[in-house]
Amino acid sequence: MPKYKPVDPQESPRFSGIKTFMRLPHVQDLDGVDFAIIGVPCDAGASFRTGQRSGPEAIRNVSALLRHHNPILDVSIFEYCSGIDYGDLPVVPGYIEDCYDKIAESLFPIIDAGVFPILLGGDHSITLPELRALAKKHGPIALVQFDAHTDTAEGYFGRPHNHGTPFRRAAEENLLLVDHSIQVGMRGSIFSKDALNNARDLGFEVVTAGEIREIGASKLTQRIHKRVGDTKVFVTFDVDFVDPAYAPGTGTPEVGGFTSGEAINLVRGLDGLNLVGCDVVEVLPDYDPGQITSLLASNVAYEFISLLALQKKCIIEKA
Ligand code: MN
Ligand code: MN
Repeated sequence: MPKYKPVDPQESPRFSGIKTFMRLPHVQDLDGVDFAIIGVPCDAGASFRTGQRSGPEAIRNVSALLRHHNPILDVSIFEYCSGIDYGDLPVVPGYIEDCYDKIAESLFPIIDAGVFPILLGGDHSITLPELRALAKKHGPIALVQFDAHTDTAEGYFGRPHNHGTPFRRAAEENLLLVDHSIQVGMRGSIFSKDALNNARDLGFEVVTAGEIREIGASKLTQRIHKRVGDTKVFVTFDVDFVDPAYAPGTGTPEVGGFTSGEAINLVRGLDGLNLVGCDVVEVLPDYDPGQITSLLASNVAYEFISLLALQKKCIIEKA
């Protein structure tokens, strides 16, 4: 039996209690833990709207709805996984480099203990220190990025870090196996003609939203699997991959995106990859009527957990 699992919904209703993710126990004991939900309330990298610091809280709030069995992936999560809500990593509001140091330092022991991290942002700048901590443990890893933007800008106002730069810095710091990394969903107006080619020049495979519409979901899933192969991989999900009609609560929305259902389906398609961690970023609750973006993000995190449970289920069934 898993050591840690959510509160029983037949004993206390889902609207009651303190809102941890999925009503998991809030503990920082890493013994007997398979996965940890970890908040990263940092928006020091936001370039347009701010307020992503409130993302983790909002995602946790609606995650109380999530139930234990995933019928599409056919897995009952807590038969195979023990999970906790670790709480939030420390940040220094407004000081991005200090946030980076604190995030990487405090995340590393969790990864080093063999716990699978699922991080809730925060703006997308937080993925850089996450990758620093992961690479310290695993060496360079592959990246699958769902996003309307490549986030590979040279800089911002002459500075190296904001939420539009993390994957350029990650490539420069050799945190990534760029030859196995893929960015999908790019669309919308860009600062210069070369913006998409800049990501390709760094070595990333880039699949635009238009191409995804042409080839369809199953071909995209095949391309992701072919690109990543059996390398260790981190999955980062920027909620602006999804159309603002479905995910308005975000910092830099782009029209012409995907539906929540299409996005969730693509995440399920990652089944079989050698995942070492995931995040879901850029939820901005102030712009989120009806909590629909938070609900989407909580479901993305839920699919990540389900993928991990499925990995463990396969290992058990093979043994
Ligand atoms: Mn992004
Ligand atoms: Mn984006």
